Amino acid sequence: MLLTIATTHSPATELGYLLHKHPDRCQSFSLTFGQAHVFYPEAKPELCTAALLLDVDPVKLVRGRSTRLEQYVNDRPYVASSFLSVAIAQVFGSALSGRCKDRPELAQTPIPLVAKLSVLPCRGGESFLRQLFEPLGYTVSAQGHTLDEEFIDWGQSQYFTVELQHTLPLGDLLSHLYVLIPVLDDDKHYWVGDDEIEKLLRHGEGWLTKHPAREQITRRYLKQQQRLTRLALAQLAEEDNPDPDSTEESHAQEEAAVEKPISLNQQRMNAVIAALKQSGAKRVIDLGCGQGNLLKILIKDIFFEQVTGVDVSHRALEIAQERLDRLRLPRNQWERLQLIQGALTYQDKRLSGYDAATVIEVIEHLDLPRLEAFEKVLFEFARPKTVVVTTPNIEYNVKFENLPAGKLRHKDHRFEWTRQEFHNWANKVAERFNYNVEFQPVGTEDPEVGSPTQMAVFIAK
Ligand code: SAH
Repeated sequence: MLLTIATTHSPATELGYLLHKHPDRCQSFSLTFGQAHVFYPEAKPELCTAALLLDVDPVKLVRGRSTRLEQYVNDRPYVASSFLSVAIAQVFGSALSGRCKDRPELAQTPIPLVAKLSVLPCRGGESFLRQLFEPLGYTVSAQGHTLDEEFIDWGQSQYFTVELQHTLPLGDLLSHLYVLIPVLDDDKHYWVGDDEIEKLLRHGEGWLTKHPAREQITRRYLKQQQRLTRLALAQLAEEDNPDPDSTEESHAQEEAAVEKPISLNQQRMNAVIAALKQSGAKRVIDLGCGQGNLLKILIKDIFFEQVTGVDVSHRALEIAQERLDRLRLPRNQWERLQLIQGALTYQDKRLSGYDAATVIEVIEHLDLPRLEAFEKVLFEFARPKTVVVTTPNIEYNVKFENLPAGKLRHKDHRFEWTRQEFHNWANKVAERFNYNVEFQPVGTEDPEVGSPTQMAVFIAK
């Protein structure tokens, strides 16, 4: 199995710095499934080609397992597959992540590159190969191979010799190959678990969300496992489709171009954390935690001793769990975290025993007639000392250019309130359940319509 990468960037031999492999040397690396060799068939200032040759050992692959003949005799040693992705990550790891100690700026610079794969299995044929690489800007040439020249009517094999040409940073080329080779092969040589999503998102960063074949890529990359595919696609959709509030806010801030833009979401989180700290709450329950925006901040801050997230949506909780896993916190910090699936409109013992509850952009998702049930669950039964509630201020919606007049900010919102309506509701709740309440604007305040988000902090009397 052979991959070559050539450049005509001048001087072309700088490819050696980018790959961290000296053009004058031939180096070998031991991998679990065989040997990888790196060498340069040519290294001139006008053209430099690096080669990665994989010598997959079919005997090593099956050692210790029950064996069948096809486990020894198959195409794996000869074709580009997930073995090549592993070799790219292990042998060209820093280049893959876009790092280069000696030429840091060159690692980020688009340079003319040609990658050639001697045998690439393309399940889905040449058209699928093109669907994967052409939207990324590559010029693709593919030479097909007949199954057997003596038996022409057996037709074409699924193997192609492929040349991919593009001007881009080397790390981008390696990331595309890392993800798309196993996708074309539609197989992986190892067990695919939850951490595979993290790899896909990391190496797909900056291109996968916008790729027209992202669903197929994700499904095949995750070996058709439905749960993993669903999680990954939800995460990609989230990255591609940011909260309209925060998009709008960051546009506004770009115009102002003063300070580093902070999204409305971030400002909301900052305001909530400040309110929690001011109240001295150590044990916090986030009701309607969604995909864990606030949990992520709470769990990283050791001020908070216990952090619980509750949501009715199992899918949101799965995504929250994935995102929190990616923080890679030490085990003793994890013990502070708990995720619970539950509805906020039914009395639930698991919601009791906290210093504070946060309800961030959630009440507007509840049907108005169910709001009273929620008030009882939270303020009467769970009864934390502090409750922080945020909700959109509908008056501010006229400021969102991309929001048609009269529309609510999200299609799942059952209502959005004016400042007066929110104050009326919060004052009524405070009085009924014996709390004090104070209000605070969140986000840049407009003299006429107020701030985009409104916040109420309730403290039990
Ligand atoms: N607090 C999060 C998510 C806000 S979106 C953030 O600020 O990012 C609203 C969340 O409330 C969704 O995740 C939705 O699943 C959850 N939700 C809506 N109705 C609910 C109910 N009755 N019980 C529990 N969670 C609910």
